[in-house]
Amino acid sequence: MNNLFDMTKKELQTFLVAQGMKKFRADQIFHYVYKENIFSWDEMVLLPKKDRQLLKDVLPIHFPEIVSRLDASDGQTVKLLLQLADGETVETVLMMHDYGNSICVSSQVGCAVNCAFCASAKNGFVRNLSAGEMVAQLLAFRKYVMPELHSIVIMGTGEPLLNYDNVIRFMKLIHDKDTLYLGYRNMTLSTSGIVPKMYDLAKEGMPITLAVSLHAPNDALRRRIMPIAEKYPLEAVLQAARHYFDVTGRKVTFEYILIKGLTCTNACAKELARLLGGQNILVNAIPINDNYDVGLYRPDEKTMNEFVTYLQRHGVPVTLRREMGSKIQAACGQLRIKREKI
Ligand code: SF4
Repeated sequence: MNNLFDMTKKELQTFLVAQGMKKFRADQIFHYVYKENIFSWDEMVLLPKKDRQLLKDVLPIHFPEIVSRLDASDGQTVKLLLQLADGETVETVLMMHDYGNSICVSSQVGCAVNCAFCASAKNGFVRNLSAGEMVAQLLAFRKYVMPELHSIVIMGTGEPLLNYDNVIRFMKLIHDKDTLYLGYRNMTLSTSGIVPKMYDLAKEGMPITLAVSLHAPNDALRRRIMPIAEKYPLEAVLQAARHYFDVTGRKVTFEYILIKGLTCTNACAKELARLLGGQNILVNAIPINDNYDVGLYRPDEKTMNEFVTYLQRHGVPVTLRREMGSKIQAACGQLRIKREKI
């Protein structure tokens, strides 16, 4: 099925000409979509009526519908559950920071990686999202919530490097000056550590930020909370991250989840400092949301602060993530799961 949001302007031109339409109509269509947030052929009134009628048949626009919307009480986070053309749903989150608006994009429906702390994985993997379905998540926010967009993080539901080709195409599409013209430096891709694809990404010539979900300072603990660690051990993940930095010059961020009594302990702080101290990297420490289903809980403030302070004193650049949206079930997948339970 053709999807308008999957197309570059050039591809749309070729498509229109093949349908007997004028090439320049692609300029008008892209202007409507990417400048005016218009996503209905009927509203594209500069197009001849017969073209609009034909386009409705050959290129129907499947703009995602909002199934639910949650606004955090801090006024800085909005979460949308969007329905796709086949009825599947995906979550997308807008975070309003001092430095601009960032959207957390989902790359798959469900996820096969099955991290213990993640709601997205609970019902397994359903399917990959197309590049256009990822573009549409951004367009939905521009239309319904906030027209200005400064950065994206591919950190929602799914493992982006297991949907490699579509995710690369998505980033290239939104980088294009005919669409959203977003700089690669304003894009972050978060992976659980799919090592071969991390090497592929380094070759793409796209200076995006790579974020790696480390979450534990040794293989034994990492395997307990991230089954993917069986396949890709810590040292291989760290080596691939170093390679990414060497090739792209982009500092890698390591995500580290703080779980009471498990990953947020003195022993873990020491091990993590030995592993990452003195390196040109960043660590993003993220307190888990209490998860009663799997018995994983958020540490108290004092323990988290001590953990972070220890790392800082031992040469690890680390920030404790300012939480946004925990009150609106911002952990990936929670909204979708909630809907399935209804
Ligand atoms: S944390 Fe990410 S990679 Fe892990 S199961 Fe959830 S969506 Fe998949």
